[in-house]
Amino acid sequence: MPRYDYKCNTCRTITEVVQSFSDDALTTCDVCGGPINRSYENVLIAPSAMATRSEAAHVEKQTEIMHKDVAAYKRLRKDGLQPKSTKGAARLEQTASSRWEVETGMSLGGNSKLGARYDAVQSAVASGQGVDL
Ligand SMILES: [Zn+2]
Repeated sequence: MPRYDYKCNTCRTITEVVQSFSDDALTTCDVCGGPINRSYENVLIAPSAMATRSEAAHVEKQTEIMHKDVAAYKRLRKDGLQPKSTKGAARLEQTASSRWEVETGMSLGGNSKLGARYDAVQSAVASGQGVDL
């Protein structure tokens, strides 16, 4: 089944959804309830158009991951953080030890000391202060 990216017009969240061609397009954002649009840039289609059991299991797994990601994304947003996408948000919530990692989606390998340093630099830059490296 094809996989679509939906982009929210309001909060800019990008959500990945696995849907069949015949499914209606989603219209509301899971995060803020605003209007969303389907993007056709990233449509991926499974090699077989036939719905097989393993494909159904794959879709179920992807859907489960997506729900976990959306839930984690909402918690991170509530904490004042802005991940780039719902995709991978659950992993970020588990592994990121700094604001910088959550917002860039990059990993410092669990090095919280380095994470704190990145955050200090980012906030100094954002507030227009000089950075003493
Ligand atoms: Zn939204």
